[in-house]
Amino acid sequence: MTVLVLGDGLLRDRGPEARRPDESVLLIEAESFARKLPYHPHKLVLVFSAMRHFRDDLRAQGRTVHYQQAESFDEGLARHFAEHPDDELVAMRPASANGAQRLDDIVTTHGGSIEFVENETFLCSPDEFDEWAGDRAGYRHEDFYRFMRRKTGYLMDGDEPVGGEWNYDDQNRESPGEDVDPPEPPGYQPDETTARVIEWVTETFEGSYDQPPYGGDWANPEPFRWPVTREDARDALESFCENRLPAFGPYQDAMVDDEWGMYHALLSPAINVGLLHPAEVVERVIEAGEREDVPLNSVEGFVRQVIGWREFVRHVYRREMPELAGANQLDADEDLPPAYWTGETDMHCLDESVGSVRERGYAHHIQRLMVLSNFGLLYGVEPAQLNRWFHAGFVDAFHWVTTPNVVEMGLFGSGVFATKPYASSANYINKMSDYCGNCPYYHTKTTGEGACPFNALYWDFLDRNEDDLRSNHRMGLVYSHLDNKDDDELTAIRERATEIRELARSGEL
Ligand code: FAD
Repeated sequence: MTVLVLGDGLLRDRGPEARRPDESVLLIEAESFARKLPYHPHKLVLVFSAMRHFRDDLRAQGRTVHYQQAESFDEGLARHFAEHPDDELVAMRPASANGAQRLDDIVTTHGGSIEFVENETFLCSPDEFDEWAGDRAGYRHEDFYRFMRRKTGYLMDGDEPVGGEWNYDDQNRESPGEDVDPPEPPGYQPDETTARVIEWVTETFEGSYDQPPYGGDWANPEPFRWPVTREDARDALESFCENRLPAFGPYQDAMVDDEWGMYHALLSPAINVGLLHPAEVVERVIEAGEREDVPLNSVEGFVRQVIGWREFVRHVYRREMPELAGANQLDADEDLPPAYWTGETDMHCLDESVGSVRERGYAHHIQRLMVLSNFGLLYGVEPAQLNRWFHAGFVDAFHWVTTPNVVEMGLFGSGVFATKPYASSANYINKMSDYCGNCPYYHTKTTGEGACPFNALYWDFLDRNEDDLRSNHRMGLVYSHLDNKDDDELTAIRERATEIRELARSGEL
């Protein structure tokens, strides 16, 4: 028997590899997998370097590790079974839709067998979620989150939430003021193993990130900064708890020029490949919360993201695929504007957010939601196209996590858990950031020369989607504002929206 460990399941003291210390371990570095999308080079370096470090750690502990560097999973498994005929594999069930079936098919073709066990990179099992979901109509995150608090006992005082409230989000919406000065995010210098992966990624994938017809590629593989070892991932967790957690809550929704990390954890890349387990992250944060300077709204806000949202989107994806990936209830059919790939735009908020993705494969949550997907929503981008862009461009992206976040939360593709679209005009961006002050577009103008594209697109979005959205009781107020606009104003808005689309298509926004 051999334990097959996939690149997003590099757990150290959990999972089948830890539970079967006498069995050998198989890892497969598949080049074709890395070519499925124009992945950001930092994502490739992260996954392959983390796999090689994982291999080396296990070998240093005396474990037998078969490490196949192959063109494809098929080739890697063929080689494995040629060397170990009739071997039986055991693996954690992949989170991606059909992942288990695809692997099973390949293994069977080569005369082997594979058993799938629970995926322990998550805290809530499929059975637990299914039991919670029961025959509810739609999924409500807040209900699931309370279920998870009770199940895990995190931040619970008997049957009651610590502090008396389940959710302290009303304290977590501070606009950025003068006092916002986030510490420099930690960066991890590539060691020899990572340097070799960087070299290999550069040689192997050079040019393959180009996005016809726009040209433009992701940034260089260097400087690469993400943790790829267990030690560095633990250090990143410590650094977050020490330096950024206290202000995480209040400034969770804030965006500031040149501050790409703000007070966010920057831990999703490590969590999503298994270098950190969500339980250890949450427990460390709760422990830090016992310090005087860490307020409960920061701790609770963070815990909610990890035990709530992360688990929730994984299971919604599991249950709602394959429909979710193609969902498009608003019939949005615009192509993704070239600026997402090239980074060339005068819109400062978009420029900052896309720039951060191009440079390091990361943008923080509010840039993802209120800039990158809000723009896509208002502009009318086809959800699958934006999903592909997120999946390709982010170091922490996997299909199970981008699909619900982009298609549903960002673009209101299916209504399976979002109760209304996250649509907002420049007003919100100006309130929550200092971007508008450094932008050639006027955030106060809706139409006419230099008017911020977010404004006309916002009203045009409401106007275009009136049949689908007006009856939504959470949209009543915004439609009453639309009703206050006279015909001339609406005509000017539609014309400006058309002009913006033309500019965006030609890369001149
Ligand atoms: P923090 O803001 O510090 O949050 C802490 C942790 O909570 C994260 O590390 C992550 O593990 C978890 N988390 C928070 N929100 C979510 C969520 N909605 N879904 C899943 N986990 C969550 N997250 C990814 O891990 N990969 C993605 O590819 C991804 N794409 C996204 C696309 C869009 C359009 C949106 C709106 C959100 C996306 N998210 C994704 C969720 C969230 O934005 C990121 O998890 C977060 O920005 C990662 O940075 P951080 O570690 O600094 O997180």
